[in-house]
Amino acid sequence: MTKYIFVTGGVVSGLGKGITASSIALLLKTRGYKVFMQKFDPYINVDPGTMNPVQHGEVFVTYDGCETDLDLGHYERFIDEELNYTSNITSGKIYSTIIEKERRGEFLGATVQMIPHVTNEIKNKVYEAGVSSGADFVITEIGGTVGDIESTVFIEALRQIQYEKGSKETFFVHTTLIPFIFGSDELKTKPTQNSVKELRNMGIRADALVCRTPIPTPKNIKEKLSLYCSVPVTNIIDSVDVQNIYDIPINYYNQKFDEIILKQFDMPLKKANLKEWTNLIDKVDHLTEEVEIALVGKYVELHDAYLSVKEALMHAGYVYNTKVHVNWIDSESLEDSSVDLKKVFKNSKGILVPGGFGSRGIDGKIKAITYARTNNIPYLGICLGMQLAVIEFARNVCGIKGASSREFDVTCKDPVIDLMADQKAIVNMGGTLRLGNYDCSIEKDTLAYKCYGERHILERHRHRYEFNNAYKEELEKKGLVFSGINEKSDLVEIVENPNLKFFIACQFHPEFKSRPTHAHPLFLNFVKAAIDNK
Ligand code: GLN
Repeated sequence: MTKYIFVTGGVVSGLGKGITASSIALLLKTRGYKVFMQKFDPYINVDPGTMNPVQHGEVFVTYDGCETDLDLGHYERFIDEELNYTSNITSGKIYSTIIEKERRGEFLGATVQMIPHVTNEIKNKVYEAGVSSGADFVITEIGGTVGDIESTVFIEALRQIQYEKGSKETFFVHTTLIPFIFGSDELKTKPTQNSVKELRNMGIRADALVCRTPIPTPKNIKEKLSLYCSVPVTNIIDSVDVQNIYDIPINYYNQKFDEIILKQFDMPLKKANLKEWTNLIDKVDHLTEEVEIALVGKYVELHDAYLSVKEALMHAGYVYNTKVHVNWIDSESLEDSSVDLKKVFKNSKGILVPGGFGSRGIDGKIKAITYARTNNIPYLGICLGMQLAVIEFARNVCGIKGASSREFDVTCKDPVIDLMADQKAIVNMGGTLRLGNYDCSIEKDTLAYKCYGERHILERHRHRYEFNNAYKEELEKKGLVFSGINEKSDLVEIVENPNLKFFIACQFHPEFKSRPTHAHPLFLNFVKAAIDNK
């Protein structure tokens, strides 16, 4: 029977709850248990798909086409499992389901209320994840901080779960902060005490505390916390600030966190196999080479807007014993004609244009692509980065001066990139967006084939526009190769320029499938090309 682990947060946000949840899941997985993860986001948006990446960070996409919080990316990278639509639940999703049910008369005349209707819907999402995944453990993280108005109903649902299932089937982890006060030079427990008290006021008893702290907490601090918070000393886990997030699961392992959880559940302590993870840490901590890669985007002021892309670059670097430094370039800043691109890209051995939406910064990205193409600098284009690579080629190599995309040039006469609606017979999963996994067939004797080493791949999408096949022949004649195609819908998925050292772009988002322990083939070959470009 599935056991449920909940991770809440107190005191301040940004304590790394997502990493805590992922680390617990990873440790249980390394002991041979099947795990599944879930995030509750208390905001009213149905999903983060329409949220500004500069505020919210990247939108992570699952294989089944769910637009989710970026924490899901951490989960997948840590536990190396593909999650799905049951993994990210927002208040918006819960409320819209409730309101639809009410309109269909499914509540049989009842007054629809927070308790029990909304809480039941939330509880169902937890239990449904257990049933559909068949996991031994479902680890659920609650976004926000305990005490926030938005999360109150989620916490209430959790209280009911704790009451219904008891301590043999549920485990509550509360993450808090232990600040260090300079001057008196001491660690302070009061914020944690208050936060645990707040949780208790809402009816939830914490089984363990994860304390984010700059230094390990001494015994007397743990004893004090234990006394005030009614949590055994053994269950108070230090989460000391680290340079490398992959150290965190090992830090928890050393404090027997997974053993404590398994003991409470009366589950056997199978042998932990941490070899892959310790090898990874060893590698990451001892990288001797360095390479700089330019990432040209319009949300670069918040690096989290490109979290999975950044991670995927790092993962590829690990394979070559190389630390990848990202040269974050605001695409709009390249649009000024006085900008010296040579200076901007001086140390960058590769250029990457990631996904994006809308018209701002388009010209700057195209300028960067021209620079990569004409200077033979390794280039990787992702989604919008593929669309713009095609437009750049059509304009500057094929002489189609008006080549553009209907997305940012609605009256354009040469829509090299056009709306999917104008293409025939596309089946898409998410209304207007092509979302989630689609097949891609790869031509032999291409760079794409060299990277993947296989003819058929599955990659995740998130976009509305597509390459317009009416221009295929013309571009091909000038040397652009369409090396990846979705055969069912005849859509272009990968393009490349074989006249250059490394120039490849894809309509999908390979970054979502990269793992620290298995770099993605496109990133792997791109980073290698950048290293060789030194
Ligand atoms: N804006 C483009 C489209 O919708 C590209 C999307 C993306 O880069 N994710 O097709």
